Amino acid sequence: MPERMLKFVSVPQQQPAKRGIDERRSDFGEIYREFAIPEAQVQSSRCSQCGVPFCSVHCPLHNNIPDWLKLTAENRLEEAYEVSSATNTFPEICGRICPQDRLCEGNCVIEKGFESVTIGAVEKFITDTAFEKGWVRPIRPRVELERSVGIVGAGPAGFAAAEQLRRRGYQVSLYDRYDRPGGLLIYGIPNFKLEKEVVLRRWRQYEESGVHFVLGAEIGSATPLSQLREKHDAVLIATGVYKARDIGGPGAGLTGIVPALDFLIASNRQGLGETVAAFQSGLLDAAGKDVVVIGGGDTAMDCVRTAVRQGAKSVKCLYRRDKANMPGSMREVKNAEEEGVEFVWLSAPEAFLGDEKVTGVRAIRMHLGLPDASGRQSVEPVEGGHFTLKADLVIKALGYDPEDLPRLFGAEGLEVSRWGTLKINHRTAMTSLPGVFAAGDIVRGASLVVWAIRDGRDAAKHIHEYIQNQPALAVAAE
Ligand code: FAD
Ligand code: SF4
Ligand code: SF4
Repeated sequence: MPERMLKFVSVPQQQPAKRGIDERRSDFGEIYREFAIPEAQVQSSRCSQCGVPFCSVHCPLHNNIPDWLKLTAENRLEEAYEVSSATNTFPEICGRICPQDRLCEGNCVIEKGFESVTIGAVEKFITDTAFEKGWVRPIRPRVELERSVGIVGAGPAGFAAAEQLRRRGYQVSLYDRYDRPGGLLIYGIPNFKLEKEVVLRRWRQYEESGVHFVLGAEIGSATPLSQLREKHDAVLIATGVYKARDIGGPGAGLTGIVPALDFLIASNRQGLGETVAAFQSGLLDAAGKDVVVIGGGDTAMDCVRTAVRQGAKSVKCLYRRDKANMPGSMREVKNAEEEGVEFVWLSAPEAFLGDEKVTGVRAIRMHLGLPDASGRQSVEPVEGGHFTLKADLVIKALGYDPEDLPRLFGAEGLEVSRWGTLKINHRTAMTSLPGVFAAGDIVRGASLVVWAIRDGRDAAKHIHEYIQNQPALAVAAE
């Protein structure tokens, strides 16, 4: 039965049900259940079909949200899938892990007073249904072009560019140093937010679409960038940012103090059925331990919740600002609190205690001062506010910076910003090297999956224009 629209006055917001807390603490399965068709229809029918949809304006991909909500309400799901996938390479992934409260849903006009339409959950439902029904098919370009593009980095930015270029008929090679593509989608973000099968089925789809995956291929000293430039008509760099910010102070070198991504990668690899030595030895396993995670972003939230699932004795998150000033998504903070994580707000580490192995963190209370030039309140220590937390595993989740790519790639002419991110011309997505483009976190700094997708899609468009405008290249690309 098709549903009429504008039902937000009579129908309350309902997100998909969450699994019970004890159940979700004991495994790595996703915590939200899927909508059934009637729920998705009814929730979509709450949309008021705004003339100027602020939800779309604030979605980095400018998805045609009101259109696919209406089609879902009318149970025309295959058409809803067509509309949704026209602007988004991975609607089912964004529906799961976008911070919707800050993007589409946070800007839904009915949010004021009636609670927003559940945009993310419906977006996920549409594409999960499309996979189930066999509507997601390999790409079959209308013409096969001779021209080829090499993409370094098979994260969301690289994938999105590969998809768009392949649709236009280019020969696309995706190079990645890891043994599986997906970037942070496969090895960073935990299974309870994004089940790995969701990423792996996209890998299969692109392989069947003719994208050539070159895995275990680290571009750097052994394979310099120049080799790829000779081989391909254009190159896209989408390598993300991986240099973990470190923490100093007394005891910072003790065993048991580990970088967040080492911890998350080990957990994800174990989940994929591998045996990780540092996990097996206990170094990267939180089971039975008092765990302290330092940081307040999405990575910190993923670490605390992973530690809970591994069977930690206690899990604390130490963050120097307060809850209102946390960079992590509030939805994830709430999930972590429900799962038993204790947040120690307005606190920063001063030293790590122990002889060889860490046994505790000495911390100091902080208070928020006046806003600095960026408008953010400064943080200052409270005199005499020292305290100690017991810890036999400390996880550092303080953010990431880019590697020194010009040195790593043997490409001195590759210009970087003062933060080390790649400089591009924003009208063309091209770096300082002709025919070399860049997209995703390596340009923006650590950001979001949806922005990486947007950048990858934009870069594909610019690469196509570049090849078309090179007379020698365009002939074979027509
Ligand atoms: P990446 O995903 O980092 O992919 C880069 C790829 O390049 C990797 O596969 C890497 O192996 C490869 N590579 C790097 N160097 C080389 C080289 N020299 N040669 C060959 N290959 C190379 N965003 C959200 O929107 N929602 C979330 O919930 C969320 N949670 C996150 C949780 C964690 C723990 C982290 C770390 C990030 C999270 N993010 C989240 C951010 C998001 O994952 C990134 O913004 C996004 O993945 C960036 O995409 P990318 O394609 O630019 O880079
Ligand atoms: Fe919202 Fe993200 Fe989907 Fe855009 S891509 S509609 S921001 S969930
Ligand atoms: Fe519908 Fe909300 Fe978007 Fe308006 S802002 S079109 S009500 S989802």
